[in-house]
Amino acid sequence: AKEAGKGIFVVYDKSMHTEFKERMMIEKHLRSALDNEEFELFYQPQVNLLTGDISGFEALIRWNSPDLGFVSPLSFIKIAEDSRLIIPIGEWVLRQACHFMAGLCRQRYNDYRIAVNISVIQLLQDNFIPSVLGILTETGISPKCLELEITESVFMESFERIVDKLEYLQSKGIRIALDDFGTGYSSLSYLQQLPISTLKIDKAFIDPLSENSYSQSFIKTMVSLGHEMGLEVVAEGVEDRSQLAFLKKTGCDKVQGYLISKPLSQRNTQDLLKRYGHD
Ligand code: C2E
Ligand code: CA
Ligand code: CA
Ligand code: CA
Repeated sequence: AKEAGKGIFVVYDKSMHTEFKERMMIEKHLRSALDNEEFELFYQPQVNLLTGDISGFEALIRWNSPDLGFVSPLSFIKIAEDSRLIIPIGEWVLRQACHFMAGLCRQRYNDYRIAVNISVIQLLQDNFIPSVLGILTETGISPKCLELEITESVFMESFERIVDKLEYLQSKGIRIALDDFGTGYSSLSYLQQLPISTLKIDKAFIDPLSENSYSQSFIKTMVSLGHEMGLEVVAEGVEDRSQLAFLKKTGCDKVQGYLISKPLSQRNTQDLLKRYGHD
């Protein structure tokens, strides 16, 4: 196909080249970002629909590079995975998030939970479990305050090994959430075999909610399926009141989204808690 015409070849080659250069550039700056303290964690609150109270936060990484400016995790996480830089970065995220949770415990928010995104590359690491347990000991938080968010793709790597690891973490009291639920390829029958505690319904199903009766049916099905399996169900990307009202009606347990709050800097979570946290 490359030889099909000179023009096509040139255009193709150029865009490939640009993309490659951009990736190389991000990777280069990513290498020093941790040492230079260019990362920051933001925290997005989750709200319990039954009580209306904040129940915890999801930690989301932010990168402000002096050379590249703000780079979205959507552009750099994949590159961090391919270069395995996600291992030290992911460990930093986990430690930082657990320290944040320890701070909440000191303010008597010990019933809150912190959710942390975990890449499959981290999970496959031999020392992932000791690293998680070490961070829990170091920060002194209870395992039940920690939820690890994984995506279905982790089960495509080495199913048995991943299942064993997640079961072990669960046996220690750590919760496992299946992120982006509904966007992957797993069949429903195989969902039963997965060691998970929470289903996070992807934003893609919440977006068309108000106009679209198909997505309403999907959501109802996912919520009742989750509950039947004894899982907690969380909806992400909730942006308006009609979505919230519908989710409440289905019995969805928790919501997260701009309607409640955008992800906040650690300092701004304190203002939020002053307004909405318990006394
Ligand atoms: P995700 O885990 O599915 O996280 C949800 C994303 O949706 C976040 O984007 C969040 O800021 C955004 N979001 C939340 N509520 C709303 C809403 O109501 N409307 C809209 N339009 N967006 C909303 P963000 O922070 O840019 O992160 C993108 C993705 O990058 C995450 O998707 C996750 O896959 C990955 N990521 C972020 N932080 C980390 C991290 O620390 N480690 C790893 N491995 N991945 C991370
Ligand atoms: Ca997530
Ligand atoms: Ca998602
Ligand atoms: Ca995700």
